[in-house]
Amino acid sequence: MMKEEKNKASSILDMAMLVTPVIMLPQLGESLNTNIPELALSALLGGIGGGIGFVLMWTIKEKQIITKSVALAALFLLFTLGIASQNPQTESAKRALLTCQICGYKAIPSEGVECEVCFIPITETFRQDEGYDSMEEMIVEEQLLFFSIEEDVEVNRPEIYSDGELRYNKDPQWKPMFTMEQYESWLRELEVIEEKIDFEVDTNQ
Ligand SMILES: [Zn+2]
Repeated sequence: MMKEEKNKASSILDMAMLVTPVIMLPQLGESLNTNIPELALSALLGGIGGGIGFVLMWTIKEKQIITKSVALAALFLLFTLGIASQNPQTESAKRALLTCQICGYKAIPSEGVECEVCFIPITETFRQDEGYDSMEEMIVEEQLLFFSIEEDVEVNRPEIYSDGELRYNKDPQWKPMFTMEQYESWLRELEVIEEKIDFEVDTNQ
């Protein structure tokens, strides 16, 4: 290779070394569970990637083309492996599921179809069958029921709900329709019912 060509190849490798972390680090961070909005996280990781790329580029700047190529290939492989080993996409993202008003997870395949997390269909038929006077009453009562029965699930936790292999995202915009006071008095009512059941079981023995 001519000296000039060599220099050109060498500087292309330098550029690739600089740019690779900028492009790949945000992808590696895509499934991170943070409160940072996606775009901001992506920009942040891109910036960090830029810093890493810059350091790498300076480290190998004076090295031979072959050394640079090997370093670049290794970097690429490392990122690819990292991205591939990440958790697979959630059902919510894969199938663009709708947010359930009751549990707040993106778990409804289409309008009027049963939610895959709380198993409630938000439909007029269901409201009538269950004897609710209004949709609002139905949502509040079903929410109280869901959050008091479901173990390890709180109003805004976990961000990802797992059901075996299936995973669903919570909609960050969703808010429950009940107040904390309503929830606490609901729990007290449940306790009373449980005590009553225990008492009946005891006296029947
Ligand atoms: Zn639901």
